[in-house]
Formats: sequence, C-alpha cells, structure tokens
Amino acid sequence: MKTTLRTDITVKDICEGFVYNELEGKGLFGLSGKLTIQPEYQRNYIYADGQKDVAVIDSILKGYPLGLIYFNKVSDDNLEVLDGQQRITSIGRYVNNKFAIKDENGMQQYFSGIASTKQELILNTPLLIYECEGTEPEIKNWFRTINIVGVPLNNQEINNAVFSGPFVTLAKEEFSNSQNSNIQKWSAYISGSANRQDYLERALDWVSKSQIVPYMSIHRYESNINELKNYFTSVIDWVSSVFKDVESEMRGLEWGRFYETYRKKPYNPQKVSEQVKHLYADPYVKNRRGVFEYILGGLNDTKLLDVRVFDEATKKSVYTKQTKVAEEKGISNCPLCAISNNSNKTKIWKLKEMDADHVTAWSKGGETDIKNCEMLCKTHNRAKGNK
Ligand SMILES: [Zn+2]
Repeated sequence: MKTTLRTDITVKDICEGFVYNELEGKGLFGLSGKLTIQPEYQRNYIYADGQKDVAVIDSILKGYPLGLIYFNKVSDDNLEVLDGQQRITSIGRYVNNKFAIKDENGMQQYFSGIASTKQELILNTPLLIYECEGTEPEIKNWFRTINIVGVPLNNQEINNAVFSGPFVTLAKEEFSNSQNSNIQKWSAYISGSANRQDYLERALDWVSKSQIVPYMSIHRYESNINELKNYFTSVIDWVSSVFKDVESEMRGLEWGRFYETYRKKPYNPQKVSEQVKHLYADPYVKNRRGVFEYILGGLNDTKLLDVRVFDEATKKSVYTKQTKVAEEKGISNCPLCAISNNSNKTKIWKLKEMDADHVTAWSKGGETDIKNCEMLCKTHNRAKGNK
C-alpha cells in the first residue's frame, strides 16, 4: 500500500460541491465531486450534537490541529474518506449554514454571519491528509488497524505539519538536526530522538510551560526562534553548571520545571557533586532519578528518593521487645507517649496502631537497620515528620 501526505487541500477545496443528505444524516460528496465522504465502511454522521461539531469549528478558529485525515485513492478523480468523515462533514455543514457556533459574546453565529476575516481563516485552513492507494482488502485491513493503534505520526510530528511555516522550519534545523553537534550534549538531559522531534518537543514544552499548541500557533509565521533557543540554552546551561557530573538517570527529567522552580537558588557545584555521589552510594536510596530534585530542593523531600523502609519482621521484633519492657515498667510502649502528661502515658498500643521510625534520621546517616528502629504510635510517628 502506498501513502502520500498532502497538506495542499484546504477547507475551501473540501467544501466545493459539498452535499449533505439531511434525511439519511450523511455527508455525501466534496472536493468538487471527487471525494466520496460516505463509503460503505463508514458510520453515519454522529457529530451533530452541538458539541463535537462545534468543537471542530472552534479548533479551526483557534488554530488547533484537527488531526490526520485519511483518503483512499480509488483513481485520480475518485477519493473516499477512510478516516475523518465526521470532521469533514462538520466542516461542510458549518460552511453551508447547517449549524451555528457561539461567538465571544455568546451569540449563536452561522457561517454567513461571522466576520469575513473569520470566514477566510476557516476556508484557507489546510487539512492534513494521507492519501492511501491499495487493494480493497488492504485498505480495509489497514483502516481497522489505524482505528486500533492510532496514527503513525507522533504528537510533535503532527504539530509540525499542522503549524508548518518559517518558525517550524528554523526550529527543526536547530532541534531535529542530527548533524547539530549540540545534540550529543543535550542527550545527557533529554530522552528520545532528535529525528522523531523529541528534542524540539522538549524545547517547546519548556519555553511554553507545557502549552505547545498555542505557542506554535502564535509563533507560526515568525522568522526567528530566538526565544525558543535562548530559553532552551538557559535551562541546559543551568543544569550543567549545577550538576558537574552527568549521570544516566538525568535523562528525561523535568529540567524545565526544575529550572523555573530552583534557578534563583545558589548552589555550590563541588558540594552538589559530593551530595550526588553520596546518595548514589547509599543502598537505602531506591530511586536515583529523584536525587537531583532532592538536592535542588535542599535535601528535605525524602519521598523523592523512595528510601527503603523497615520490613515487617523487623517491626514485629522491635514491637515485641519494646512492649515487654514497657509492660514491666507500667508505661506506654510508645516512648513519646510514655514521657507525655496525658492519658496515653501508660497506653499499650497494638502493633497495627504503630509505625517504625528511624531513631537517627536516615538523612543524618541513620541506617534502615533493626538497631536504628523504634516503634512509635501513629500520631507521634507522623508528628516526627518527614525524615
Ligand atoms: Zn505516642
């Protein structure tokens, strides 16, 4: 089967000769009669619910991607919609005044009633279309497959096609070019491949604070990528100045977010390097990917490290010993309750009412070992907090 990506067909082209059968609820033809919208394997039009059809038009007006559309090329003069029938029918019906959408003032507006600039915007929007050629069984098999596994393009590849223009061209030269000697350096911090647009996606994600689509839409026709490039460089420079050593666990971390959160704090790279080495050598640290944010945040949030906890056998053994001593002395088996002045002073807690605590905090070098384990009632354990 042969597939060709086409970006030259606009809404206007599609709507030329658009025919919609109100009785059967089907869009029938478009593209000056060349396009059959409803081949036998398609569902009926189900977008006429005042939401999905409206969303299609809203997306066009906001410059958001409509997604891929697939045509089966039967002959030069005959195309069938394989996937995208609902979207195409929504567009055709709107342009033919079959339904209205709300404008900024909450007024229902038919196509003929909106500003001519908006009409032009809609009509000139190109669609992203794959034309497929193959035998009928091939096409049907493949149609079944795309409906299960989705489309072969990833998000950023689709965005690049949708927002094609000078900005994307420049951005791809910088971030999707495996000849760029910086890629090697960047690969220490970014996962994925430059070819599949993973670096570009990360750069856009960082500069736009995860608002990639609106960002690309706004900058689409700009002929420089200074902001994108400068922001990306700032993040990378910051990371590589704070963390002198490159560790494999750094790849794919949320460096953009870390940069925004911590860049105003001063760090001593020499000390940071020692902290990384120390934590990497600590057998109780289960999550090494958390080490970097743990250090950036000032060594407070041990949850990031997923520190090994005491096992059940250790807890039970410490509980038994602690409770025996407490009963002999007539005091609570929670050492902190025992020195309190309330009614829990002599309370013997059940095992399930207590939690294990590090006597010497893990962060101060205390080991997760039976010698450093103490059982506290849940209230006191929680009060001792995050250590
Ligand atoms: Zn207690």
